[in-house]
Amino acid sequence: MSEQIRFDCHLHSCFSSDSKARPEDVIRTAVGKLSGICVTEHNDFDYPPEDGKTVFNLDPDEYLSAYEALRPALPDSFTLLLGVEQGLQKSVADRVNAYDPEGRLDFIIGSSHLVRGNDPYYPSFWEGRSVTDALGEYFDSILENLSCCRNFDVYGHLDYITRYIPGRPKDFRLPDSCTDQIDEILKKLIALEKGIEVNTAGFCYGREPNPGRQILTRYRQLGGEILTVGSDAHRPEDIAFHFGACRELLLSCGFRYVTVFKKRRPAFVRI
Ligand SMILES: [Zn+2]
Ligand SMILES: [Zn+2]
Repeated sequence: MSEQIRFDCHLHSCFSSDSKARPEDVIRTAVGKLSGICVTEHNDFDYPPEDGKTVFNLDPDEYLSAYEALRPALPDSFTLLLGVEQGLQKSVADRVNAYDPEGRLDFIIGSSHLVRGNDPYYPSFWEGRSVTDALGEYFDSILENLSCCRNFDVYGHLDYITRYIPGRPKDFRLPDSCTDQIDEILKKLIALEKGIEVNTAGFCYGREPNPGRQILTRYRQLGGEILTVGSDAHRPEDIAFHFGACRELLLSCGFRYVTVFKKRRPAFVRI
């Protein structure tokens, strides 16, 4: 664990369909490692049912009250923030934009887990087309999301799809065919005063976080400043995963600060 990145802004527990972690275990582990966390449970409108079951349909009342109940026992030195990882798609833009009207959340990560309704996690997504074409459609769908979804603070794991490229080499690099789309995405995010997330779960799939050096360097060149760091832990033991390596990478790309959102407002923390 790094001394310098002491805040994990992306993690899940049992209110996300793909985690069994108990909130009390999340908190206990985090207090031992960090100065604060932002829990970001999944909400994905219209996610395809899995085994006939609705998934990623968050009950915010249940989620927020479970964590609020743990707050009184926290040490004063520890900050607990509560957010959501919202699945972005054009087809659900209205619901995304109307989410959390009471302003109860500290932070919303907007993420692409589906490409126009299809999940790149499954091999069938990749059948019958080239990797270049699949990446093109993915980044195109992000541009589409940015034209209609407004209610989020950072775009999560921007090159998420690369985790699931069949036969992906560890040192995978995005092809040049993606350069213009990525530039357009980053410029649009900067113009919208939104940021990007560095997701250290990427170190499980390759040698870099998501996004990696290529996109981070370009974001910096274009003047991007808002950058949150999260482990995307679905188990307490993965909290702050590879934060030391992430800090080194960010410093080498020219970043000196990371961002933490509280009540949807950014604060900058030196790394
Ligand atoms: Zn995600
Ligand atoms: Zn996540």
